[in-house]
Amino acid sequence: KNKIKIGIVGFGNLGKGAVEAINATDDLELVAVFTRRNPEDLQINQPNVKALHVDDAADYQDQIDVMLLCGGSATDLPEQTPKFAQLFNTVDSYDNHGEIPEFYQAVDQVARKSKTTAIISVGWDPGLFSTNRVIADAILPNGENYTFWGKGLSQGHSDAVRRVNGVKNGVQYTIPSEDAIEKVRSGSNPSLETAEKHNRICYVVAEEGADQATIEHDIKMMPNYFADYNTEVHFITEEELARDHSKAPHGGFVIRGGQTGANNKQIYEFSLKLDSNPEFTASVLVAYARAAYRLNQDQQYGAKTVFDVAPSYLSPRSSHDLRRNFL
Ligand code: NDP
Repeated sequence: KNKIKIGIVGFGNLGKGAVEAINATDDLELVAVFTRRNPEDLQINQPNVKALHVDDAADYQDQIDVMLLCGGSATDLPEQTPKFAQLFNTVDSYDNHGEIPEFYQAVDQVARKSKTTAIISVGWDPGLFSTNRVIADAILPNGENYTFWGKGLSQGHSDAVRRVNGVKNGVQYTIPSEDAIEKVRSGSNPSLETAEKHNRICYVVAEEGADQATIEHDIKMMPNYFADYNTEVHFITEEELARDHSKAPHGGFVIRGGQTGANNKQIYEFSLKLDSNPEFTASVLVAYARAAYRLNQDQQYGAKTVFDVAPSYLSPRSSHDLRRNFL
């Protein structure tokens, strides 16, 4: 059986996770990784996979069925997705929620014209969480959706902690508030601000001689990042930071509290607990690469989101197998 041929654009955390995720499948084959840096510097460690410059990607149009776009959402994907969708079927993880409708329009225009299929904003949020928000809302029209994130390492907040005077190094985890989750699970549909739904925990390595009380105060008072939240600050050593805080865990919950009939409570809940955010996100992209290939075979051109993709398109199993074992 012919394997679906995959290319990766961008070799950061997500790109590295994508190599692993493709290796874990039997029906996909990684052909090449494309980078804007010097390709010779990439450590891909896969004998049959080429490391190439992004400018050479056009030469591989006939050899690659789907490009996984693993660039960053802030500046890479707004430029890369419309560009690559001219030549390839694509899957990306664009996560700038507020800008998704405009991003969709820009990609859709290009992909329709080029007869390619571009599945945008794939991952877990946006992605699997979005699908669950839609399903829960459709099934329980009388109700309320809630999304909680964490326990998760937040890059932006960790950077903010490291910028505080006297801080040598540090990380920040976003933690869902147990109180808030229990209220939501009880079906009382409370109104909750983001700050009430999440707490923040910082692990900080202080510079020698720095005053810990001052650092703690400066972190907790930081507007937007910490001031509105219940924030804890713990001081640890550089060794402890390296030993206990070098992974990128994440996850969260989508919960809908709904009512049917004579005020019967119906609680819909979907959760993820991830040791590695990029490895999981890359695994989602890889499953949707199958779908991009199949939708394109079906002549379903243009930009798509997770809402447009049937679950059977994600699976390497036959429809018969799915009916027999998964229904
Ligand atoms: P990275 O910062 O690790 O990588 C982004 C890009 O930066 C890479 O594609 C790479 O491009 C370049 N890069 C990576 N390492 C280096 C380096 N050492 N020096 C110079 N450039 C480098 O981001 P992530 O892979 O962690 O995340 C990518 C995006 O995935 C995020 O922006 C986020 O939007 C999205 N995401 C979405 C999720 C979802 O659920 N939807 C969940 C998690 C992430 P190049 O090889 O061309 O230089």
